[in-house]
Amino acid sequence: MTLLVHDVTLTYPDGDARLTALDRVGLEVAAGEVVAVVGPSGSGKSSLLAVAATLVTPDSGRVVVAGQDTAGLSAAEKSALRRERIGIVFQQPSLLAALTAAEQLQVMAHLAGRPSRGLRRRALELLDAVGLADKADKRPHQLSGGQRQRVNIARALMNEPAVLLVDEPTSALDHERGAAVLDLLVGLTRERSTATVLVTHDRGHLAAADRVTAMHDAHLTPA
Ligand code: ADP
Ligand code: MG
Repeated sequence: MTLLVHDVTLTYPDGDARLTALDRVGLEVAAGEVVAVVGPSGSGKSSLLAVAATLVTPDSGRVVVAGQDTAGLSAAEKSALRRERIGIVFQQPSLLAALTAAEQLQVMAHLAGRPSRGLRRRALELLDAVGLADKADKRPHQLSGGQRQRVNIARALMNEPAVLLVDEPTSALDHERGAAVLDLLVGLTRERSTATVLVTHDRGHLAAADRVTAMHDAHLTPA
C-alpha cells in the first residue's frame, strides 16, 4: 500500500480540554488509485491530509508513506520525505509572484537537491500534461484561477511523488473548471501511479474517484 494511515487519533489543544480532530481513522491508498474524502466543514478532512503529509504528528496510530514508517523520523527526515515522496496541493494555489510557471516547478526540484540538468524540460513536459504548454513563461498574475491551480498541481508532481494529497482544489473555481481540474487529477493519478487522496465538498465530482469515504465528526467511514 503506497499510503497507509492506520488507527490514527489526533487532538488539538482546546482551552483546558482537547479537541479530537481524528478519532481512530484508517485509510489505505494504492498506487494509481484516487480516494475521495467528503464531509462537512470542521469534520477533520484537512487534519487527515496534514497527518498523511507528515506535517502534523498524530497522538497515536501509524502513517506509512511509500513503505517508510514515519514514526521516529526526525523533522529533517520528514521534510525530506515530503519533498521527495509527497505532492501536496492546497486549496489556494500559493505560487511565487516573481516566478514563471516553469520556474515554479523547477524550484521544487532545486529544493529537493536534484541536479539542474533536464529540469526545464521536465517542467515543460508537466505543464504540457496539465494543458499549459503555452503558459510556461507566464507569471501567476498573467494566469486565470484555473490555470494557477493547474500550475499548482503540476508543481506537486515535479519530484515524482508516490503520494498526492489534494485539499479542495476546485473551491476557488466555477463548476466547469472544477470538473476539468478533477478529471486532470484522476488522469495524472493513473499516468503517474500516485496514491491520491482528494478532499472535496463538491459531490458532483465524486464519480471520478475509485472510492469515496466520508468524514464526519473526526470519524472516517466508507460513503
Ligand atoms: P475540515 O478540513 O473538514 O474542515 P479540519 O481538519 O480543518 O476540518 O478541522 C477539524 C477540527 O479541528 C475543527 O474543529 C477545527 O476547528 C479543528 N482544528 C483544525 N486545525 C486546528 C489547529 N491547528 N488547532 C486547533 N484546532 C484545529
Ligand atoms: Mg479543510
